[in-house]
Amino acid sequence: MRLSIVVPCYNEEAVIDLFDRRIRETLDSLAVDYELCYIDDGSGDGTLERLRHLTRDRAGRARYISFSRNFGKEAGILAGLKDAAGDAVVIMDADLQHPPELIGRMVELYRAGHDQVVARRGREGDKPVRTAVSRLYYRLVNSWVDVELTDGVGDFRLLSRRAVDALLAMPEYNRFSKGLFSWIGFDTVTFDYRNAARGAGETKWRFGALVNYGLDGMISFNNRPLRLAIYLGTALVAVAGLYAVTVTVLAMAEGPDVPGYVTLLVAIVGLGGLQMLMLGLIGEYIGRIYYETKRRPHFLVKETSASRILTARQVSPVGRVDAR
Ligand code: UDP
Ligand code: MG
Repeated sequence: MRLSIVVPCYNEEAVIDLFDRRIRETLDSLAVDYELCYIDDGSGDGTLERLRHLTRDRAGRARYISFSRNFGKEAGILAGLKDAAGDAVVIMDADLQHPPELIGRMVELYRAGHDQVVARRGREGDKPVRTAVSRLYYRLVNSWVDVELTDGVGDFRLLSRRAVDALLAMPEYNRFSKGLFSWIGFDTVTFDYRNAARGAGETKWRFGALVNYGLDGMISFNNRPLRLAIYLGTALVAVAGLYAVTVTVLAMAEGPDVPGYVTLLVAIVGLGGLQMLMLGLIGEYIGRIYYETKRRPHFLVKETSASRILTARQVSPVGRVDAR
């Protein structure tokens, strides 16, 4: 069998050499035919330079694709999946938080007939607050999203060829891959591993980005929030109706009751806020439609290892072109 390893890299110059060495050691010991597909996601540091160096003279074994700018990890994964030619594909981070040693186990489980082999990380070493927030989030989100999202399950997984093809058949612009993986289904098996600290460099996640990611997870896979808006609106109209009847009846029985500006104020502000929230929600869905209708490419390629070899050949006719 041939195994493809897809590695999105964004500003990973500090760790990429180490990663490359570790992954090659692991794969060589596994005795599988493999290829490494690095995706440079528009890094601003020396990552591309390192990738050029690491893939030089290793055509067929290692190659890279470099984006014209930072398109995000999802785009990187997509490019890698498109590029990968293996019977099975492993997606993993470049920062060694996904231990290469686990690939052996993944391949074993793949050979046992599973289409998706998922490594689930523990939360050792995470800040307790972040752990608690994540737990709460997953409980909340799973109660209303149509696909199952699991805490600790990320992009570190092995996918069979047909699972990869299924993912590639989904052309959506807004790619929430945790949801996509779950949506395609197939025979999935999960195993746990201990969370590891980054090999070097630093995380690209800021708090705001995490919040946005969380919202994506809720909105990307259903229209239940819109449903919720309908229920909430209906409930409010009912309450307002009841209140109006009560006030009218009381006014007829005991004469009009002049004070009541607090009620009025609360009603106006509360309803105003609620309307803004619902408008924002609808806007969120419309925004998604807007992006989908543009049909823009998910990423733009600036250079690949193959194109570099070709360019080199144009310069000097003795340059070697290794067929992929
Ligand atoms: N990454 C990427 N594009 C981005 C951000 C991150 O390709 O815009 C890559 C990054 O190089 C790494 C992986 O995605 O290989 C995970 O990123 P990071 O380690 O920052 O996330 P964390 O592990 O903290 O969730
Ligand atoms: Mg990381």
